[in-house]
Amino acid sequence: MIRRPPRSTQGVSSAASDVYKRQIIIYMNPIVRFAPSPTGQLHIGGVRTALFNYAFAKKHNGAFLIRIEDTDKERSKDEYTVQILDSLKWLGLEFKGEPIKQSTRTERYNEVINYLLETGNAYRCFTSSDELQELREKSESYLYPGIWRDRPNEEIESKLKDGVPFTIRLRIPESGKVDFEDLVYDKISTDISELDDFIIARSDGSPTYNLTVVVDDHDMDISHVIRGEDHISNTPKQLMIYKAMDWDSPAFGHLPMILGSDGKRLSKRHGAKGTQAYKELGYFSDSLINYLALLGWNPGNEDEIFNLQYLIENFSFDRVNKKSAVFDTVKLDWVSSQNIMNKSTNELLDLIKDFDSNWLNEDFSDEYLRKVIVLIRERLKTLSDVKTNSDYFFNDPKEYDEKSLQKCWHDSTSQIIEEFYLELEKISTWNSTSIDELIASFVQNQGIGFGKLMQPLRVALTGALIGPSIPDMIEVLELETCKRRFQNILDFKLK
Ligand code: GLU
Repeated sequence: MIRRPPRSTQGVSSAASDVYKRQIIIYMNPIVRFAPSPTGQLHIGGVRTALFNYAFAKKHNGAFLIRIEDTDKERSKDEYTVQILDSLKWLGLEFKGEPIKQSTRTERYNEVINYLLETGNAYRCFTSSDELQELREKSESYLYPGIWRDRPNEEIESKLKDGVPFTIRLRIPESGKVDFEDLVYDKISTDISELDDFIIARSDGSPTYNLTVVVDDHDMDISHVIRGEDHISNTPKQLMIYKAMDWDSPAFGHLPMILGSDGKRLSKRHGAKGTQAYKELGYFSDSLINYLALLGWNPGNEDEIFNLQYLIENFSFDRVNKKSAVFDTVKLDWVSSQNIMNKSTNELLDLIKDFDSNWLNEDFSDEYLRKVIVLIRERLKTLSDVKTNSDYFFNDPKEYDEKSLQKCWHDSTSQIIEEFYLELEKISTWNSTSIDELIASFVQNQGIGFGKLMQPLRVALTGALIGPSIPDMIEVLELETCKRRFQNILDFKLK
């Protein structure tokens, strides 16, 4: 009798071994995994897959494991593994144990492949790829017609003796259906006639994706495989490997794809970036998580702003959408700006200082910085907007926007500014309310429209027609700075 190789925990995190024994109730103590390939930064789709795995595991007191699918030697890089793990940490998606690396598990895959060969559940196929190509063209079918499925042993032996390269294929049932209950898409049924004896080991001996995933998920004791919908067609194949090995199979849940605005699979072309890049642009991890949760899951109410804890508490597969979602940077920025608004001024101050230590080129007190934050926060989409939106609180304008000047500077403007300054100097209680009152009475006394004063003030103080309300800005900048900036623009206009 051929002995089935036992579960091998070699290279597999301890979470799987004894602590989390699967329970009869399907959602209790699940063991899930996120299985990125380290061929680039952690991308948006990957974050969402990781996030839903994590939320599901946490909600039901389970374990969230990581597996690095690094079998593609040419494209996989250690630095990407480091980046991916760093990104997960930044996002707060803590995983249990050490990440499992497929590159360390070759022996185990070979053991399973040999077992499948020995039990007749797999066989060697000596058809070359050129021959296959020819067959496909002739028959107009991509399915392998089982050429080596039932060849006599002597023929196989002779090919082996001649050193003819071969692949190893799974011997799938001749007919029937492969059914599974998807956690998101409900019942999925595949007729076996749509499948063929697929390759589980390539001619260089390396195992294919479907084989490694099944062996790993089994050895890691994964209870729920939650991954992108692009893998849905792999699931029947994987189920057939479980069957051939006589292993229990996990539950499967596939997540709808994330698309670009043109309906094509999301890529850099659509403005989607790697996680690291979002961090560098000054998005909070909370914002990314919040937005990605909304891409594929709905909270069941109008409240679109929530954090990871909320997602964990409320996550369920019946709220995962079946339809693919379109990635929308405008919505991401909206979520991000909402999260900025929800932070306290002190929190924001710390976050900005952490994000950009070059924000300040002089020593300004925290009190001053807090005042600036209060005035600019509603204009911020991300922390990287702080610099452009606050420069005029720290530096006098070096130049004036020509268009703005043309629009608002008339013959009488210099005199208006001078006279306004003389009034400003006289204010006894320095706050935005009294500055506001002064502006109102000034334009009335001068018999001019508000714009005649406000727009030149804006250009004088900021260099362009930008910035928060003028009284607020004047209050924070204080008299000395206003005086200097008024003088600067008058000098500039005299030149
Ligand atoms: N490494 C695969 C991917 O990045 C994940 C496969 C799986 O979750 O089964 O798409």
